Amino acid sequence: MTPGSGALRTWETVDLRHLTGSTAGEGFMHELAIAENIVDTVCTRAAGRPVRRVILRIGALTAVLPDTMRFCFELAATGTAAHGAALDLDLRPAVVFCRVCRSERRLPDLIPLCPCGSADVTVTTGRELDIVAMEVA
Ligand SMILES: [Zn+2]
Repeated sequence: MTPGSGALRTWETVDLRHLTGSTAGEGFMHELAIAENIVDTVCTRAAGRPVRRVILRIGALTAVLPDTMRFCFELAATGTAAHGAALDLDLRPAVVFCRVCRSERRLPDLIPLCPCGSADVTVTTGRELDIVAMEVA
């Protein structure tokens, strides 16, 4: 498949069944559901004006993959006021405050566990999933 080909005109005609059988299918549907939600939200706020750009903040712990998100956004936006809108991603690392280290530590992976081994942590950043801003024509 080629994101950006322009061949997809309406949401209803897109058959996604071929994507759900693989191990990556669930993840893809996760991003697609989020993308649809974003498109709905920005189109409502745009009140009929074309959406030019959407800035989305994504934390690493949301398990949203940037490339998949871009593709799903484009798919979800097809035929809406957000059709062709640019999607800017503000990616946030997973950071925890560790009560053993008494400091903020960046996580090397997506498990909320301090690099020192302590699980006595509070997630500081990494769970964000927000529409930060949007631009309308
Ligand atoms: Zn620690």
